[in-house]
Amino acid sequence: MAPGEPATTTVSAETLHIPAEVVDQMVAHAATADPLEACGLLIGRPGRPGPGDSGDSGDSGDSVTGFVPCTNAAASARVYRIPPVELLRAERAAESAGQAVIGVMHSHTHTEPFPSPTDVAEAPDPSWHYVIVGLRRTVAEVRSYRIVATDAAAPVRESSIVVTPLR
Ligand SMILES: [Zn+2]
Repeated sequence: MAPGEPATTTVSAETLHIPAEVVDQMVAHAATADPLEACGLLIGRPGRPGPGDSGDSGDSGDSVTGFVPCTNAAASARVYRIPPVELLRAERAAESAGQAVIGVMHSHTHTEPFPSPTDVAEAPDPSWHYVIVGLRRTVAEVRSYRIVATDAAAPVRESSIVVTPLR
């Protein structure tokens, strides 16, 4: 793979539910940081196996319930780094609310919203959702991935995003 080329992506059957207001918050955070990359943390509930457990759609995909905008400690247009203290704070707040940090969002200001080779190499947790907000086009694009860096054949798997209505 040549440097800068997006990793090969396969689409899995997995879904990630994101409230419309969280999508708006992520896009606004990305737009504010532009031309630098923005980043933040996704708070939510991991989906439990088996249909009907959530009482709504019957889908067992993970659900995002909140978004924590973070500082990009790298202050870069190409990479992002969440300050450890911000991750710790978000984890504590999520835990005290009976939830967890289930993923991370960052923006791509001038490239496609696919994980870069650096994103794949530095993905810390295969159980996390990696949401990328793409600002390359007029309308922001929001995509979500699983990244399993140890799976050389298919390290990146795109999930379907289901935007849930405002409450
Ligand atoms: Zn990236």
